[in-house]
Amino acid sequence: MKAKFPLRDFAIIAVSKTKEYPIVREAYLQGIRIFGENYIPEATEKFQRLFSEFPNAKDEVQLHHIGPTQTGTLRKLFPLFTATHGVASFSTLKELLKRAEKEQTSISYFLQCNISGEETKHGFSFEEILMAKEQSVPFENPCCKFLGFMGMGPSSGDETETRAAFLRLAQFRDQSFPDKKLSMGMSGDFEWAVELGSNYLRIGSLIFGERTYG
Ligand SMILES: *Cc1c(COP(=O)(O)O)cnc(C)c1O
Repeated sequence: MKAKFPLRDFAIIAVSKTKEYPIVREAYLQGIRIFGENYIPEATEKFQRLFSEFPNAKDEVQLHHIGPTQTGTLRKLFPLFTATHGVASFSTLKELLKRAEKEQTSISYFLQCNISGEETKHGFSFEEILMAKEQSVPFENPCCKFLGFMGMGPSSGDETETRAAFLRLAQFRDQSFPDKKLSMGMSGDFEWAVELGSNYLRIGSLIFGERTYG
């Protein structure tokens, strides 16, 4: 199935999670077209409202679910979301592939990798992904496209550690999946992510201001 929107090689995802509808509306009017949200019900409410107020927005806006992708609620990603960035288990991936076929709606996804080594972070190890590749685990189908890898820097925000984590993900991609994209970089570390070749930046607070929660 043809993707609803061409997915570009570089994009800034404006992460509007927790921000009220009037803010999303204003961002749309100011020209922002690629949004990111974590909470599916909140996103659905805001973006359905946007699409009913501005019918053209439905064809212009890409909505990215930036994760985590939960197996139990992922059916609610359809048909609103273009992509989800937080697929962190093979059972979730299997469900996503199955559900996309059932809905006959295209969706893309990123596998989340734990690149900081922190136990509290979701995500695959590189070994797990390589093993699945060797075992020919299906990564995509005509409705669901495997776009690349998502990684988050360490909570410390330390420059050396963050750069090292982003570099590990970039090298893993180069060596094992050269045609895949990278989703890495947030408000506090996007410059290092850009230097290391990130394709998708997920920027919230720098665009919309600090969040009081979430
Ligand atoms: C909230 C969030 C972001 C954006 O964070 P900022 O630091 O506000 O830019 C990016 N990625 C994920 C997965 C998030 O949950």
